[in-house]
Amino acid sequence: MPATVVIGAQWGDEGKGKVVDLLAERSDVVARYQGGNNAGHTIVAGDQTYALHLIPSGILYPDTTCIIGNGVVVDPFVLVRELDQLEERGVDTSNLRISGNAHLIMPYHVQLDTQSEIRLGKLSIGTTRRGIGPAYMDKAARIGIRAQDLLDASILRRKVAIALEQKNEVLTKIYGEPPLDADVVAGEVLALASRIAPFIADTSLLLDTAIRDEQTVLFEGAQGTLLDIDHGTYPFVTSSNPTAGAACTGTGVGPTRIDHVLGISKAYTTRVGEGPFPTEIDDAAARHMAEVGHEVGTTTGRARRCGWLDLVALRYAVRVSGMTQLGLTKLDVLSGLPEVRLCTAYVKPDGTETTEFPWHQSDFHSCTPVYETLEGWDDDIVGVTSLDDLPPRARAYVERIAQFTGVPITLIGTGQGRHEVIDNVEL
Ligand code: GDP
Repeated sequence: MPATVVIGAQWGDEGKGKVVDLLAERSDVVARYQGGNNAGHTIVAGDQTYALHLIPSGILYPDTTCIIGNGVVVDPFVLVRELDQLEERGVDTSNLRISGNAHLIMPYHVQLDTQSEIRLGKLSIGTTRRGIGPAYMDKAARIGIRAQDLLDASILRRKVAIALEQKNEVLTKIYGEPPLDADVVAGEVLALASRIAPFIADTSLLLDTAIRDEQTVLFEGAQGTLLDIDHGTYPFVTSSNPTAGAACTGTGVGPTRIDHVLGISKAYTTRVGEGPFPTEIDDAAARHMAEVGHEVGTTTGRARRCGWLDLVALRYAVRVSGMTQLGLTKLDVLSGLPEVRLCTAYVKPDGTETTEFPWHQSDFHSCTPVYETLEGWDDDIVGVTSLDDLPPRARAYVERIAQFTGVPITLIGTGQGRHEVIDNVEL
């Protein structure tokens, strides 16, 4: 039985939550491998709505083991809040496992994230101010606090004291904030230790055993390919690697163990906040996408920028993650447009045309898209669950995407509902 990585193929918000939820139902294990509580899915199960930012949505299925891998940064306060929220409503959380090597987001990381964004003003990165970037910075600087440190109070206290020596310099001298007391900070975090300790485990070994036992394992990436810190549109990126390779480093599973990589893309493109976006449009089609697709940021309430599907960027995403199949969400949103466009090349500032994603940021920032225009379709396709029921023009649109990217499209979203999907994915 295969191990599959599911990742966003664009700039996040691809509707991945719904797909992961659908696939989690059929998986024995769901593992997150990067990011922190900046992911976030709202899952509607029966008459209950759950807002989860850290714990994989698979937790709602009693037989699914959920893993927070070593590559994730874990805010212990958020973790306990989510556990409480689930348990109060009778959800059994005993199948959650957290890597002992996962780094903790400490209260000072949240404070430094906020202060840094305020200081950058107009140049701010637009982080979620949840301390995720600063926690990864400390991980790389070798002064991070890990989940396993919760199991030894004296080690944790010593590590917090060392980290705060440096942080307090920054807080007081750069940001003019009062210094933090190491004992108080360590005490606040240690107060959660007994609650979190039962979940801490050797998750790499657990995943290896699951794969050897031929269980179905799903690796869930957060954010999207173009937000990857190495392969995305730096500096408008996240502080980790959402691309598929990170599923290995972020969980301790070797690359030869992964069978499939499923990339999720909208049938068009959106982007939140700043950064280059060649296929962005500001016309009736953009308003249609924004309105019909409800393209408003879930946490920020900010309107998302909308544009045509960028096949150059999508094929790049397929390449850097070795995607073996694509899921296309929100095809229903395009119904009613007189024509639909696909970007198949860029014209670079020097006038040359390319079908490859430019490696140099200046080329990408200033390129203009070359479009193929296809006829639109009027038919309402909400809730269609079979390829045969798609209007021929919608089908031609999907087929062109598969042809250009070179990978099969195995899932097509046709509505908001969990089962409004054409789904041929075999896990
Ligand atoms: P994520 O941030 O990538 O996880 O995106 P979500 O899974 O949170 O999806 C965002 C919104 O898109 C949710 O309200 C979904 O119901 C909606 N959505 C997902 N797939 C489709 C689809 O195929 N059609 C429509 N109309 N809405 C969808």
